[in-house]
Amino acid sequence: MTPAATLLAVLVLGQFDPYVRSRVTPGDDATQCLYWTQPSITWNQSSFGNPDTTSDTEFEAIRVAFQSWEDIFAACGNLTLRQGPVIDERKAGYLRGQQNQNVVLFRTKVCSALVAATDACWKAETCGNQYDCWDDDESTLAITLTTYDKRSGIIYDSDISFNASQYVFTTANGPTCFPPVTTNCVSTDVQNTATHEIGHFVGLDHTRLASSTMFPSAQAGEVSKRTIDSGSRDFVCSVYAKGGASQACLHPVMNDELGPKGGGCSATGASSLGPVLMAWVLWRRRRAREGRS
Ligand SMILES: [Zn+2]
Repeated sequence: MTPAATLLAVLVLGQFDPYVRSRVTPGDDATQCLYWTQPSITWNQSSFGNPDTTSDTEFEAIRVAFQSWEDIFAACGNLTLRQGPVIDERKAGYLRGQQNQNVVLFRTKVCSALVAATDACWKAETCGNQYDCWDDDESTLAITLTTYDKRSGIIYDSDISFNASQYVFTTANGPTCFPPVTTNCVSTDVQNTATHEIGHFVGLDHTRLASSTMFPSAQAGEVSKRTIDSGSRDFVCSVYAKGGASQACLHPVMNDELGPKGGGCSATGASSLGPVLMAWVLWRRRRAREGRS
């Protein structure tokens, strides 16, 4: 087998692993993995919630999704996922030198219907924050936008956005909704989606293993990802092993090696690099997108 064919085989097989860690360059084992090093991560829900979800039940569904990960961290991990207060924040991303929150929010309007095509925000990739709208692919269910140091892989901020402009998010149990959506059926389940996104939040990439919470797509009516699979559990127990340091994939890089490294804009694979981060060459953002299968 040629080296190229070997590499391809490894990459393809690797996609079916019990878990796949997010990397600075996705799928490239020569680059660092993404991981948190702080012992406690606070996350906040945006007070706006999702007006289309019945009786504000989306807040509880998201809390339960975080709790299912927190239960694993409590059993065998080294960090705590802590719910902070509900906040009015509507911006995803990371602003250096400012107070940043790991926010969970729903976008209920699509930017293409709100923002002129000539608006500079499109090129800057800031329309979503500027106009509080969904500015990514309209077929995407949700996005986890993670900001990390590209040398060390250390995560500094992660925000989860739900695409409520295109999908009806529900919290009920029951059969798959057949339009119209009622209160007793499942369309796009909040907890199912959130549990998957929180996997990205803690440093997991997709795996093609269909039984995994980190399988990259979800059918309408699906609730199976509410339950975290054994592979994703193993990720927590080994990468964030209780009593130990969070595990890098390459040689560890200390936090204090970070510092302002201004003087240019990194364009290396930074398809979602926004102006906020442009002056900060080390910082990159990663968008993990979900599709509907
Ligand atoms: Zn995903």
